[in-house]
Amino acid sequence: MKTARSMVLVSADPESIRRGSEKIYSTFQEELSQLGLQDEISLSWLSDSGRHNALPMVVIYPEAVIYGPITPEDVPYIVEEHLNKGRIASSLVAPIHELSGRIAWLSSRKGTLPAEKRIVLERAGIINPEDVQDYILHNGYKALGKVLITMNPLDVLNEVDASGLKGRGGAGFPTGQKWRFVSKATSNKKYVICNADESEPGTFKDRLVLEGDPHSIIEAMAIAGYAVGADEGYIYIRGEYALAQERMRLAISQAQELGLLGDNIFNSGFNFNIHVHSGAGAYICGEETALIESIEGKRGEPRSRPPYPTTNGLWKKPTLVNNVETLANIPAIIRKGASWYRSIGTPKSPGTKVYTILGNVNATGLIEVQMGITLREVITIYAHGMKGNSTFKLAQTGGSSGSIIPASLQDTPMDFESFNKAGVALGSGALLICNEDTCIVDLCKVLVNFFKNESCGKCNPCRIGNDRAYQILSNIAEGVGTMQDMKDLESIEMYLYQMSNCGLGQTAGTPIKDTLSHFRAEVEAHIKLKICPTGVCRMSGHKVN
Ligand code: SF4
Repeated sequence: MKTARSMVLVSADPESIRRGSEKIYSTFQEELSQLGLQDEISLSWLSDSGRHNALPMVVIYPEAVIYGPITPEDVPYIVEEHLNKGRIASSLVAPIHELSGRIAWLSSRKGTLPAEKRIVLERAGIINPEDVQDYILHNGYKALGKVLITMNPLDVLNEVDASGLKGRGGAGFPTGQKWRFVSKATSNKKYVICNADESEPGTFKDRLVLEGDPHSIIEAMAIAGYAVGADEGYIYIRGEYALAQERMRLAISQAQELGLLGDNIFNSGFNFNIHVHSGAGAYICGEETALIESIEGKRGEPRSRPPYPTTNGLWKKPTLVNNVETLANIPAIIRKGASWYRSIGTPKSPGTKVYTILGNVNATGLIEVQMGITLREVITIYAHGMKGNSTFKLAQTGGSSGSIIPASLQDTPMDFESFNKAGVALGSGALLICNEDTCIVDLCKVLVNFFKNESCGKCNPCRIGNDRAYQILSNIAEGVGTMQDMKDLESIEMYLYQMSNCGLGQTAGTPIKDTLSHFRAEVEAHIKLKICPTGVCRMSGHKVN
């Protein structure tokens, strides 16, 4: 295959498509072909564009020039100026303040900033996610070939164990250990499930993997299937992720056509097939047993554990459930080895973490960095500082079930051990960064309201506890709270943690716990002085019952 001198990537996220990026793409095809440039310039889709105001955009490599927002009418000028004459079409270059996330970082790098370390998102935004050949050209399916031709299942388990990879869905459970549990379970049928429900508010990292590099998940699931003895897999994708579902279905059919899924893969005797299952929008279906119930066609309610899915999962068969980000690490670990993976991140939390940056910062979006980076570094380097030079007050990690991190912990390395030691959780990787204008009572109320609405109602502590906590927080916000309310909130938090049936209820009290641990004085100001120090709460004096 001839190497292209330039690469043109057209943004293909849902917002860009809504604004006409498909027409932009086809106009590029026409213009390049008219000038006879179609063999010199490769045209592809850009999936990893984060969220910004310059959509639709195109990125042209090797110069890494970003044009946007553009229309189909701009395309002939870009082709003529940039791709034919070699001059940057300055009038269409995207202004830096319109960009965010990886794109903003890319456009502002001067060689002095530490780069991201990309493993999970290595190919997202680089390859055409709808072209299996592009994936193969970028080391795709090499790991699966290596596993099936040169390794036995135990070798694979040992390699994943040795890598020290921990689950990226929030709990941080050692991946190799989980795989071993399923491998040891005796059964004539086992399953692998990829949890792509990603329902934590503010988190969209898995979506970009599914949309930008779907074959990496197929490859990882097949490797997992081989290691644990499963021949069938399900990808449970949240209902709102229409493009991710479409690309995953296409990727599966392409892999089947090439014999990379199906029977006797690489003549190894190993069979593996994957189905896509669409979720219907319930937050609780991100919990692995509720997700399994949902695939079985039942109402998505968590099961009581034990038994665990590793022995009694889908249709009561041993089932491995891994999150998208966890699985996306697997092909690289197999290709490059466990010791390579261990050289990244911290000794006890090797590898990288993908973070979604949101809130009162100058650049929002996605980054993938080594484990152990601090919150201060994320804000200063990748988020380009606090918006309007405001002051950092707190960060909420990992969606609603994550922790509230006060400014005093912003220099704590973000890895599983350091965060556990500090009494906070890394969660799924969403970083909602808030400035001094954020009211802690208001934030806590919003988070508890989320759990109140999303509780499946199966058990009392969660169904009643979240409702009652919301009433109490509303009263504090209205200026009619009492000091007894703070004690009641502490009791509710304890009962939620100790007596709830599943992870939703057990973590629902985290915002309450963190609020009372780190921001007690601010809550007391609402109760004793009847003032909201940030001026957010209206203090109407009306009681909520
Ligand atoms: Fe349902 Fe909440 Fe009980 Fe979990 S803790 S089973 S979400 S009621």
